[in-house]
Amino acid sequence: MFSGCLRKGIRFSVKISPFTANPDIDPAMSSNTNAPASSHFIRSFIEADLASGKHAAIVTRFPPEPNGYLHVGHAKSICLNFGLAIDFKGKCNLRFDDTNPEKESEEYAQSIQADVRWLGFEWNGEVRWASDYFEQLYQFAVELINKGLAYVDELTPEQMREYRGTLTQPGKNSPFRGRSVAENLDQFARMRAGEFADGAKVLRAKIDMASSNINLRDPVIYRIRRAHHIRTGDKWCIYPMYDYTHCISDALEGITHSLCTLEFEDHRPLYDWVLDNITIPCHPQQIEFSRLELHYTITSKRKLLQLVTEKHVSGWDDPRMPTISGMRRRGYTPEGLREFAKRIGISKSENIVDMAVLEGAIREDMEARVPRVLAVINPLKVTITNFDGAQSREAGFHPNHPEFGSRVIDFSREIWIEADDFAEVPPPGWQRLIPGGEVRLRYSYVMKCEEVVKDATGKVIELKCSIDHNTLGKNPEGRKVKGVIHFLSCEKALPAEIRLYDRLFTVAEPDADKEVDFCTYLNPASLTVVQGWVEPVVKDALPETRYQFERLGYFCSDRYDHQPGGKLVFNRAVTLKDSWSKE
Ligand code: ATP
Ligand code: MG
Repeated sequence: MFSGCLRKGIRFSVKISPFTANPDIDPAMSSNTNAPASSHFIRSFIEADLASGKHAAIVTRFPPEPNGYLHVGHAKSICLNFGLAIDFKGKCNLRFDDTNPEKESEEYAQSIQADVRWLGFEWNGEVRWASDYFEQLYQFAVELINKGLAYVDELTPEQMREYRGTLTQPGKNSPFRGRSVAENLDQFARMRAGEFADGAKVLRAKIDMASSNINLRDPVIYRIRRAHHIRTGDKWCIYPMYDYTHCISDALEGITHSLCTLEFEDHRPLYDWVLDNITIPCHPQQIEFSRLELHYTITSKRKLLQLVTEKHVSGWDDPRMPTISGMRRRGYTPEGLREFAKRIGISKSENIVDMAVLEGAIREDMEARVPRVLAVINPLKVTITNFDGAQSREAGFHPNHPEFGSRVIDFSREIWIEADDFAEVPPPGWQRLIPGGEVRLRYSYVMKCEEVVKDATGKVIELKCSIDHNTLGKNPEGRKVKGVIHFLSCEKALPAEIRLYDRLFTVAEPDADKEVDFCTYLNPASLTVVQGWVEPVVKDALPETRYQFERLGYFCSDRYDHQPGGKLVFNRAVTLKDSWSKE
């Protein structure tokens, strides 16, 4: 039975322990976070159809081809289809368009299901597969043949291209177009029976070779392909084409609104033609919206596959990838991605979005929800000359959420600070540490830099500082200290591998120029791995635990490489401030 499109059994818990594996839990669990859904033209269509009584309830579907991992563009489509079903109390199916056996795999199908669920959605009933309909699709093709609306063609692919004509020139009829119904039925049955070589013949819809819409110039609807299929094995050696399969699959499932991206607009007449010419009681309405494109990355499975196969990235879920699994591993939240989908909206106009919009949504989501701790990622040692022993002070995990709890911050004679928080020659407006200057150590004392220690090359390797013992929890007397920097006790801090990510490409639209391989524009500095230090409190964090490292950004323990109690690995999901829009 339909489960309301959302995963059951998940509840929002306000209390987020810093050890919680995955605070991916959504408060209100409306399709798109808490705010009311924004209106758009597809919504208006649906509202009108429900108001007029055309449909009593809506059924949408998300129809990926299992030929790669899903990317951020698919996330937009998922949020749209599942979101509408939730908002209008309808249903949304998950259907694999598995009509290209050579490119499809079970691994991809599994990853897609995991990604949809991780985003917070659950499909109506079982997963569906276009291949479940192969027999029906075949019978509908027979119906078309019987009606004189389909024929078996034997033109070579080159001839077929030549006969098709161009945008300005009509096509011409194939010499096989006039075959009798009986001959076509016989030929088609023999195609199915495996009597002909791959590519030797095709079944074409008989529509109009002079149509101004090239998609209607007798499109191929079946081809011969001896390829092992992930679900039907070797049962079939003919496979239906996407356009033919998609509309019939939609109709068989009782889809009311078939939402797809704009490149299918010119295919809509074919979608309608097929359904108008077979005996099927349902005729879904195809509605197109614009694809999401993101600056500095790519949203094409084929190109993402190239990045994987050419090993430019570590895999489909490399945190630099715009795949859902990559974004997940990087530390993005499902709530943040749903919020992003809401912010970019749905329209028919070009939808190239700045990365700042995506990161903004992620950042805002995490801001209120993840605990804050201290880490040092570019360490510089400081020796406190007038302090011995150890001391600790309690600090809350989140200034606005006392219920998140607290931990102790340790102070000791030797501490780590960020090397970037010290400048011998400060730029204008600098409020951090300088020789002879003072700063507040977060949750601790006011500290003064007394001496700068350098190595033979002149590099600063240590600072010797003193603290004002009178400044714990209170302002120093007689002077103001503006700057606050964070630190960790060398004695208590734990080493951690920190992975910092930058944009994957050096140009905003890496695949804009068809003449240039987009890999030319890969950013060689997209990943920086540093050895840093973290607070002991994160020691037992499970993989995929998110934190704000104060002043540094939002981080997430790596899904695969981080070991609770062992090797600690944190990925930076997003910086604290927008670092994109200054470009
Ligand atoms: P790609 O071009 O990356 O291979 P695709 O469109 O071939 O993508 P499908 O698996 O066919 O991938 O897509 C499933 C659904 O997701 C389709 O309805 C498609 O329109 C939608 N979709 C794919 N890419 C985007 C995108 N960039 N923005 C919005 N929706 C998208
Ligand atoms: Mg596709």
